[in-house]
Amino acid sequence: MRVYVAGNIVVDETWSIDQLPEKGASIHGKKIAQDIGGKGANQAIILSRCGIDTRLISATGDDINGQWIRERIRHEKLTLLPPQFLSAHSDTSIIFNSSDGDNAIITTTAAADALAADIILAYLADAAAGDILLQQGNFSADKTRRLFSWAKAHGLTTVFNPSPVNPDFADLWPLIDIAVVNQPEADLLQPAGVNTLVITQGAAGALLIRGNQRVFCPAINVAAVDTTGAGDTFLAVLLASALLRGVAPDLLALQHASAAAAITVSRTGTLNAFPDADELQRILAQR
Ligand code: ATP
Repeated sequence: MRVYVAGNIVVDETWSIDQLPEKGASIHGKKIAQDIGGKGANQAIILSRCGIDTRLISATGDDINGQWIRERIRHEKLTLLPPQFLSAHSDTSIIFNSSDGDNAIITTTAAADALAADIILAYLADAAAGDILLQQGNFSADKTRRLFSWAKAHGLTTVFNPSPVNPDFADLWPLIDIAVVNQPEADLLQPAGVNTLVITQGAAGALLIRGNQRVFCPAINVAAVDTTGAGDTFLAVLLASALLRGVAPDLLALQHASAAAAITVSRTGTLNAFPDADELQRILAQR
């Protein structure tokens, strides 16, 4: 069994500035961190650290950031496809943190957009019935729909995390087996008819709904310093826990996911904040 993650991979650059600039202003700032990000990459990296055979189908551009991404991801146990760089700038998120605690984020999507559905389908061709296709919200609704339609027609299990949210995703529910959404996404997209629905509620916890069954798992009470990547950690560990035990997502999977997400929120950064493979093995061994 293999998980195919079709999504984005991004260089996250964090800058510290005094205050968000006025229109036309030129200001000083300080770059304080650079890390791998992007929801596709985040989820694929954590799945692979959990011991899941993971293929990340994601675009890196033919620029210095593309080289940096590949060097940084080389140590992870996942396969990054396509193996070659695309003719585009790598996707980048510039995160501005101002001294009054405000922030502003600029994210590019040129590389993800350049990765056409036909290219992704070529890398899905060796998927077998029972494998998983996991997507997030970084592709257009049409591309996302096409990939999930192909997956359903070939007997794959479909997992959707519709973030960043797009109202057009509300039509996709008939194609989805497992959905993981946060509360605002649930309110906007009204997931219906999915076999397994998980609604995450930040520091409160997460709710699992399957048929008539409703299971709530409170979050672990930790001093949160940076919640970036909490949702990605939660989803990947929830899925890995269920897959490794050969069951549908259950209370134990929610508990494993909550424990892993609590580690992520207690550290700063994205990839730098994620639990490593040893920490994940310890969490997944808990019963
Ligand atoms: P993000 O977009 O920030 O990655 P999200 O909106 O997709 O997150 P959340 O609902 O914020 O997802 O968080 C997912 C899970 O992470 C929660 O269900 C919870 O288990 C854990 N979590 C989030 N915030 C905290 C926190 N402050 N303390 C402990 N656990 C947390």
